[in-house]
Amino acid sequence: MYTLDIPDHLASSFPLADAGAAPLLGLATAGGAPCEDLTDVPRVAKYLALRGTAQGLRQLGEFRDLEVVWVSGVRPALIEALADVPRLRALNLYQVGRTELGGVSRLPGLEHLLIGWANHLTDVAWLAAFPRLRTLVVEDAPRLDLETLPLLPKLRALQLGGGIWKTLKLPSLAPLERLPGLRFLSLTAIAVGDGSLDVIARLPELETFWAPNNFAIEECARAAAIRPDLAAPVLQPIFAEARLDTAGNPVFPCKACGEAMLMPTGRRTSLLCPSCDSSRIRKHIARWELARAQTILPAT
Ligand SMILES: [Zn+2]
Repeated sequence: MYTLDIPDHLASSFPLADAGAAPLLGLATAGGAPCEDLTDVPRVAKYLALRGTAQGLRQLGEFRDLEVVWVSGVRPALIEALADVPRLRALNLYQVGRTELGGVSRLPGLEHLLIGWANHLTDVAWLAAFPRLRTLVVEDAPRLDLETLPLLPKLRALQLGGGIWKTLKLPSLAPLERLPGLRFLSLTAIAVGDGSLDVIARLPELETFWAPNNFAIEECARAAAIRPDLAAPVLQPIFAEARLDTAGNPVFPCKACGEAMLMPTGRRTSLLCPSCDSSRIRKHIARWELARAQTILPAT
């Protein structure tokens, strides 16, 4: 079996028609790999994992019940063929290369779109064609121009990131305010030019937030004051508590005393030992509380 995992938090937003309350946790294909030839695949299939180079792509239109498609190695011919799938609701496009994705906009019923390893993806204005889109994941897309993001009032979950090897450099997070219904926002491997987290104040429905630890401490504390209802590592003075591994050993041991170290919130901070660096930790928390208080009670 070849299991195609979908992150838990996203899987829970895939309530497919007959799946009852059970979330979709992944797609598994028999034979150990995604499908290479559509000829013998039963036409009643609801879920399909295939390679972009699979034989018989033109037969995709015969799959009248197909709701979920996962593709590795996206090609223009595949994008063309997908437009004939009448009930497609979830689409995972992995390894996009230089293939233009605008063609998928002929799928007005699409609710969940996941795009991965899309090094050449810049413009996402075509997403405007998906009025029902609820989940959007764009990963490994270091050239993405967020300014092209259209208004998507129904979008509930967004996961956005540059990738393991490259950071997605965004001038600002401001375009995210075009997603007023957003409840889940996860930003990984990003750097924000204006350093502002202000946008979370303009996303009233936001419930879950994750951002990397590369914002200034004052900005994080200010954002925490603006949205005290949001729990996120970046909105707390300590970004990562001291941790032990499964064997009970510190994940990051202090070189002086061996105790597990913690990571304070704020860019350019270093790991601190709760014992050896206790005064630095107290100063860090005092700086955080001051910035938070100045937001709640602005100086007159
Ligand atoms: Zn120590």
